[in-house]
Amino acid sequence: MVKCTLCGRREAFFMRLYSGEKLCKRCFQESIITKVRSTISKYRMLEPRDRIAVAVSGGKDSVTLLHIMVEIEKRFPSTLYAVTIDEGIRGYRDEAMEIAAENCKKLGVEHITLSFKELYGYTLDEIVKLTKGKDLAPCSYCGVLRRKALNIAAKNAKVDKLATAHNLDDETQTILLNLMHGSPFRMARMKPVTPITRDGFVKRIKPLCEVPEREIALYAYLKGIRFQSVPCPYAGEALRNDVRNILNRLEEKHPGIKYTIYRSMEKIRPALESFIEEPEMGRCKICGEPAVGDVCQSCQMLQELGIL
Ligand code: SF4
Ligand code: ZN
Ligand code: ZN
Repeated sequence: MVKCTLCGRREAFFMRLYSGEKLCKRCFQESIITKVRSTISKYRMLEPRDRIAVAVSGGKDSVTLLHIMVEIEKRFPSTLYAVTIDEGIRGYRDEAMEIAAENCKKLGVEHITLSFKELYGYTLDEIVKLTKGKDLAPCSYCGVLRRKALNIAAKNAKVDKLATAHNLDDETQTILLNLMHGSPFRMARMKPVTPITRDGFVKRIKPLCEVPEREIALYAYLKGIRFQSVPCPYAGEALRNDVRNILNRLEEKHPGIKYTIYRSMEKIRPALESFIEEPEMGRCKICGEPAVGDVCQSCQMLQELGIL
């Protein structure tokens, strides 16, 4: 029997190649909680009395983040909420909404929902029908509209922080994608905590940004967490999928390479930040949400589709 390198007693079941640790089930789960706690404290993500909303889509990472936050926050006088945006994707979102609600009930967390239909008058399915012949993919519309919906839902709940489930894999993929798209300066903005609390924006935090996706999946499996595993019918970020495969192959051959890319970015970021100027933020003259210029991005999109 191979023993766990942490407790030295129980049988190891997971080999963490990048650190050389062999972990038993209990020590593995504790190590994930410890890692998230240290990320939260390193980036000063939370205050003890914060009202925190966790963005829960119903997928593996977000549902697991909710479970982890409940575990971590139980020793603080903070308040946790889960926020789910229903984009209106037939045959996909319905199941995700139900799974998100079930997890919230189990954990005793208040579940706040907001749909595209309520907020914009149209579901994503209806919007996609109107985008035929346009350059942008469904995910581009969905991303912008969901971002605004999350911000509004979080503000309505009067929370101090909005936690999203971006993991180490998402972060390293985005670093490479920004380089491949010729947008290196965008990397300065993708921080674990949104740089400044601008008026009208809820501060966003990414407590899982230093946890590899594979370990989140393993944690969810060990905890018996139910999540949605069917992919969205519109998912089609071809380049991101290629980058994901490349990074996974590299990680297999060179354990720790994802962390190395992530840490390199941490070192480069201050220099990048010195090159960018924060845009002047005003208010959208249509919806009143924060905007660069007169009209926010989501209102611009809806105007272009002729539905605003
Ligand atoms: Fe929205 Fe694209 Fe995600 Fe589907 S895959 S939920 S369309 S961002
Ligand atoms: Zn152990
Ligand atoms: Zn607007």
